[in-house]
Amino acid sequence: MVDRIVVVGGGLAAGTAVVELRERGFDGSIVLLAAEDHAPYERPPLSKAVLLGQAEPDSTAVKDRQWYDEHGVDLRTGARADGLDTGRRLVLVGREEIAYDALLLATGARPRRFAMADDSGASVSYLRTIEDSAGLRSRFGDGLRLGVLGGGWIGLEAAAAARTSGADVTVLESMDLPLVRVLGPEVAGVLAQMHRDHGVDLRTRTEVTAIGRAGDDVQISFVDGSTLEVDHLLVGVGVEPDTTLAEVGGLVVDNGIRTDRHLRTSAAGVWAAGDVANADHPLLGRPIRVEHWDTAIQHGKVAAANMLGEQVDADALPYFFTDQYDFGMEYVGNAPPGGYDKVLLRGNVEGLTFTAWWLDGDRVVAGMHANDWDAIDDVRRIVDTTVNPARLADEAVALSDV
Ligand code: FAD
Repeated sequence: MVDRIVVVGGGLAAGTAVVELRERGFDGSIVLLAAEDHAPYERPPLSKAVLLGQAEPDSTAVKDRQWYDEHGVDLRTGARADGLDTGRRLVLVGREEIAYDALLLATGARPRRFAMADDSGASVSYLRTIEDSAGLRSRFGDGLRLGVLGGGWIGLEAAAAARTSGADVTVLESMDLPLVRVLGPEVAGVLAQMHRDHGVDLRTRTEVTAIGRAGDDVQISFVDGSTLEVDHLLVGVGVEPDTTLAEVGGLVVDNGIRTDRHLRTSAAGVWAAGDVANADHPLLGRPIRVEHWDTAIQHGKVAAANMLGEQVDADALPYFFTDQYDFGMEYVGNAPPGGYDKVLLRGNVEGLTFTAWWLDGDRVVAGMHANDWDAIDDVRRIVDTTVNPARLADEAVALSDV
């Protein structure tokens, strides 16, 4: 019998789980421990509309604070859980012990640090929180010289927002292309060209050897002896799952908190969800840790149901979206390097309105559309099925007939 549920984390997975618990009629006690000084919120706008000044940070909240009061949720912000005793089913915040029957760890991820930047004493930052976004935005304006270390999603979205706001932007990517490991060269090349067309100085195969201060400038040195001076350096070299509490509690941790397909961790009564969860995926047949908005939502719902005694699978295929300049895309599936042998592109690639399909033999392992919003239903339908590749490649055959 579950009477007391504790949720740890202040992101989308935690917020979604709490809402789902109440929507499912759970009327026991819920304590939500969130380390940040905010009620749970969504991060995608922090590198898009909020960074562009087109949306207020408050608009990212999963629910406003009043909702938690009205629904009897004991929301504690600025409360970092720092102890976990799974035998006695207790979470600790400092000396306070909070008992649970079921516990959800939705502790998310944090930016991977780049020691050379941190130790430089120069003007560098990361982008994960509302405060990070506001801090970066406050620097925007004509004449800002912004360096972006890392051409991942966050780096490219921030680069787009900064360019749109009039900054001179240099993106430093160590690989041949930004995002090449996620999208492969065919589609990564399209994004690279788009940024160059918008005036971003995108440098690939860069190897940074030192970061230092030169007056007020950040000075970045490269292996070929060249240097770059910028006013500010944004570091976006990926994130790592925040498993601190799980490790304190002795849970099995391996690239995040390991869970089964129901998001159950190795400890009885403890579930994990969102960026921190490395969960067995019933359709992919292997564990996967996904750092995307949609997974935080799906996991939040699945974990809530299962904490109440259901046996729901976390079986949604990975989905993500991005918005950069006037380019938007949605991607479904998972096509890591070596996980596919062919990429098909349909539509107007130069005009940035197209679909792309990653195939392993006849099996479509991932698909995406760019600026072709009506195609998302077909993408969802076709991914994870077997097709006739010739028909998928043939633009005379409508996607709906593939
Ligand atoms: P998080 O959002 O990381 O939240 C975890 C929270 O738990 C944090 O607030 C943390 O402080 C708190 N916490 C950690 N430990 C403790 C503890 N011991 N006690 C209490 N609290 C604790 N995804 C997309 O699909 N599309 C996008 O366009 C996109 N854009 C993004 C833009 C930005 C700037 C960022 C940062 C991310 C973006 N993402 C995007 C990724 C998406 O936001 C994440 O996948 C999502 O936030 C994961 O939610 P989460 O709840 O699992 O974790």
